[in-house]
Amino acid sequence: MQTIAEILEAAKAAGSIGAAGAAWQAAEDGTGLEAVRHRMHQTLAVMRDSIKDGLNPSLRSVSGKVGGQAALMNTAAQLPRFGMLSKACAYALAVAESNACMGKIVAAPTAGSCGILPGVLFAAQEEHGYGDDALVDALFCAAAIGRVIALQATISGAEGGCQAECGAAAGMAAAALCQLYGGASEQAAHACAFALMNSLGLVCDPVHGLVEIPCVYRNVGGAAQAMAAAQLAISGVPCPIPCDEMILTMKDIGDAMPQSLRETGDGGCAACPSMCGRG
Ligand code: SF4
Repeated sequence: MQTIAEILEAAKAAGSIGAAGAAWQAAEDGTGLEAVRHRMHQTLAVMRDSIKDGLNPSLRSVSGKVGGQAALMNTAAQLPRFGMLSKACAYALAVAESNACMGKIVAAPTAGSCGILPGVLFAAQEEHGYGDDALVDALFCAAAIGRVIALQATISGAEGGCQAECGAAAGMAAAALCQLYGGASEQAAHACAFALMNSLGLVCDPVHGLVEIPCVYRNVGGAAQAMAAAQLAISGVPCPIPCDEMILTMKDIGDAMPQSLRETGDGGCAACPSMCGRG
C-alpha cells in the first residue's frame, strides 16, 4: 500500500483503513494479526505514560525553556467551559514536553511531532469512552497514512519543513480520529487531506536547534488542526484536492523551502531577536 488510493482499495475489503493497515503489517512481519495488535497495544501504553510524564508540573528541559506548561493547560482544561479540544491540546503539549525533557515517547511520525496523535486519541477516549481496542485500530489507520506520507513525500523537518512533521502528524491524527468517530475510509482520507492542506508551508525553525521552541507549541496547533479536519470530513465535507495530491504538494513545497527554514536554526522563530540574543 504505497498510496492513499491503494489504502482505500484495501480498506474496502478489510472494513476500515485501520483494519487494512493491521492486515498489511501482519503480512509484512509474518507474525500474524494477534502479534501486531499486541505490539500496537504496547505502543498505546507508552503513549499513555508519556502524557502522564509530561503533565508533571516540575518537569524542565535541560535549557529550562520547556516544561510545566502542559500541567497549566491541563488544569485549565478541567474547567467546565472547556472540552475535548482543550484536553487534546494539553495532552499534545504534555507528550511534546516529555520529549524535550528526554522522556520516553512514541515518534508519531517523528519525535518532534510526537504529541499530536496521542493528544487527540486520548482526549477522544476520555470524552467519548472509546476502548483501547478502538484506539489501537485508530493507530493502525494513522500508521498506514503516515507510511504513505513517508514513502511519497517526507516526514523529516530537515527535508520538508515542519509541514512534514507536525503537518504529517496532524494528517495521521485527523484520519485516525475520523475512523474513531465511525467515519467511512474515504472520509478519513479527506480528513488527512484537510489537515495537510492547512499545514502547507509550515517551516522548521527550532530555536538553538533544540526540539523545544516552537516545536512543543506546534504540537498543540497540530492537535487543533487534526480535530478541525476530522470535523470537516465527518460532517460530509469532502476535501476538494485528493489526499495523494496533497501529499505530493507538501513534498514540492518542502523542496522549494530555503535551507534556512529546514531545521538549520537559521530562520523563522530561531532568527527572532529575542531568541538569538539580539532582543
Ligand atoms: S519545528 Fe522542526 S524540529 Fe520542531 S517539530 Fe517542527 S519539524 Fe520538528
